[in-house]
Amino acid sequence: MSKRILVIGAHPDDPEVTAGGTGVLWVRAGFQVRYLSMTNGDTGHHLQGGGILALRRQAEAHAAASLIGAESRVFDIHNGALLPTLENRERLLQELREYQPDLILSHRLWDYHPDHRYTAQLVHDCAFSVTVPNVLPLTKPLRKNPIVLYVQDRFQKPYPFQPDVVVDIGPVLKEKVAQCACHESQFFEWLPYSAGYEGEIPSGKEERIAWLTDRLKERFATATARWRDRIEEIYGTNGKSIEYAEAFEVCEYGSPLTPEKQRELFPFLA
Ligand SMILES: [Zn+2]
Repeated sequence: MSKRILVIGAHPDDPEVTAGGTGVLWVRAGFQVRYLSMTNGDTGHHLQGGGILALRRQAEAHAAASLIGAESRVFDIHNGALLPTLENRERLLQELREYQPDLILSHRLWDYHPDHRYTAQLVHDCAFSVTVPNVLPLTKPLRKNPIVLYVQDRFQKPYPFQPDVVVDIGPVLKEKVAQCACHESQFFEWLPYSAGYEGEIPSGKEERIAWLTDRLKERFATATARWRDRIEEIYGTNGKSIEYAEAFEVCEYGSPLTPEKQRELFPFLA
């Protein structure tokens, strides 16, 4: 059976933004990849909202995932209203037991957005419990606790993100940008409005992609520059040529990422 990767984001575009490049590499390696959003994104816009926006964002998430041959799931929980309740823990446990991931990727606990924080909390709460038969006894438990990795963020306190695995996404940057571009409501509307650069957005489709490529390249290069020392530690001098990377940090509550497991789960790093 092929390996299964589950990227759990708080919002419909989080999986693509944090792991969309590695997602492409996993699909090419024959892995199953699922993007899960814990909320339906229904407040993530300045002009639209509610059910219409939730449906639009679900369609964007499906389009982005199908572009690379991944699956997409969006939980019908309001944006900004996710809480680490027992009900949501059980909902996520059922998802994990159904999909049986070998590897889970998600946010860290320290983040500006409550949905990101509580997604992280729920993932922590499900690690281990997912293997306990009498937690939801009518849903078959996993025999093994999955490996859990955190996706990158820029927050410094209580401690900055520490990359354990770094993936060069230069060769799949185009595919990563294409996935982000599927989230039109975000990359061409809400985020530009929210940060005050909506005047920059071109109207033609190709021009938009070119604009987004430039913008994301800058963002990914800045993140990669922060991990430069770590990249060179891992890749030696070959690391100098890595311009754009996705990085992941081991979560202690999952199974250990041994060197052997890392080779199995990241075969393209060899
Ligand atoms: Zn988010």
